[in-house]
Amino acid sequence: MTATADTTLAIHGGTPVRSQPFPPRPGVGEAERRAVAEVMESGVLSQFIGAWGEDFAGGPRVQSLERAWRERFGVRHALSLNSATSALNAAAAAAGVGPGDEVIVSPYTMSASAVCALVHGAIPVFADIDERTFCLDPESIRARITPRTKAIVAVDIFGCPADWDAIMRIADEHGLVVIEDAAQAPGAELNGRPAGTLGHIGVFSLNYHKTIQCGEGGVAVTNDDALAERLALARNHGEAVVGDMGSPHADILGFNYRMGELEAAIAEQQLARLDELTAPRIANADRLTAGLADLEGVVPPHVPEGAKHVYYLHVVRLDEQALGVPRAAFAAALKAEGVPVTEGYVDPLYRQPLYRQRAAWAFSDPRNDGLGRYDDGECPTCERMRDHEVLFHPLVHGGLSDADVDDIVAAFRKVHARRGALVR
Ligand SMILES: *Cc1c(COP(=O)(O)O)cnc(C)c1O
Repeated sequence: MTATADTTLAIHGGTPVRSQPFPPRPGVGEAERRAVAEVMESGVLSQFIGAWGEDFAGGPRVQSLERAWRERFGVRHALSLNSATSALNAAAAAAGVGPGDEVIVSPYTMSASAVCALVHGAIPVFADIDERTFCLDPESIRARITPRTKAIVAVDIFGCPADWDAIMRIADEHGLVVIEDAAQAPGAELNGRPAGTLGHIGVFSLNYHKTIQCGEGGVAVTNDDALAERLALARNHGEAVVGDMGSPHADILGFNYRMGELEAAIAEQQLARLDELTAPRIANADRLTAGLADLEGVVPPHVPEGAKHVYYLHVVRLDEQALGVPRAAFAAALKAEGVPVTEGYVDPLYRQPLYRQRAAWAFSDPRNDGLGRYDDGECPTCERMRDHEVLFHPLVHGGLSDADVDDIVAAFRKVHARRGALVR
């Protein structure tokens, strides 16, 4: 540990706990390089054609990745796409989401989880989150259901599975399609079942910031044959293809969401390393949690009963009351000690200009009178998390040594012990 006898906070001129940068995330290596070289030698960079026939389903690497994905996650269908954003948009198309429909979404997530409703002319209706997991609160979902509700997009945020038993029970009662946004959660589990397979359609991201990656990419999975066919159509110019292939899904809106062969070859190598890249995240998170456990007002990540959390980020909750210090002051002091924390997620999505603007449009229709207005107070738990409690950092990946993790713990402990100096 580099913690020193100097107990003056770095923000007040003391020596920071950590002055070296932290190591980078483990990246792509020799196996990925070889896989790319093989694709280059084959000369086939993509083999998709937006017409019905042999090449409707893509080239050999795409199909090989999809086979490996099906096996790894135990699902009937896996479709590669060029991002998780594309996969979410395709999932909404597959679910039949269209103009006038409502889609219940989380306000505490990356924007794509809600944009997939807007893209299809539907209205995102925001439900509140659980303060322990930051995932959708099933009771809040239930309270937002109307006769126009078509689908739910629930996110396994930060790598923690949502409350899937409750969510699927509600969906079944109301005949809703459930899209699981598992972009941050490949490798997570709930009662032994893999995240991504817990809703009707699951979506994974292969963007470079995620646990496994191919630069840009995504995968959608489902056990439902009709949903799989609709996903394939949405990926590949569906409306122009349905007639030729004799598909009944004539209402589909198609795009070009296809993955290339190079990305697929890299993604297959990364998939094989999923466990290897996940295990150190869990070990590092456990070490952080143990190191912070006795700090009053600092709440380490909650792992629900039966869940395997894979820690895309390490998130702690600060109880400002118990701490006696505003989160902003605590975060600034941590940053000065060399730990690059972020004060929670982006604003609740309904506070962002796009939604406010769309809301003004959607709510000018008197048929939408019963809907929320995207006003402040819409999702109070989400707002409290965003404005006061959540603090996170990405330093949980397998590139870190125990000593690196101990520096993060030491910085938290130093700031916590000296926090009185932050309010004086
Ligand atoms: C990263 C992310 C996405 C989007 O993934 P891309 O592959 O970058 O499009 C969607 N949802 C969540 C929760 C994410 O974290």
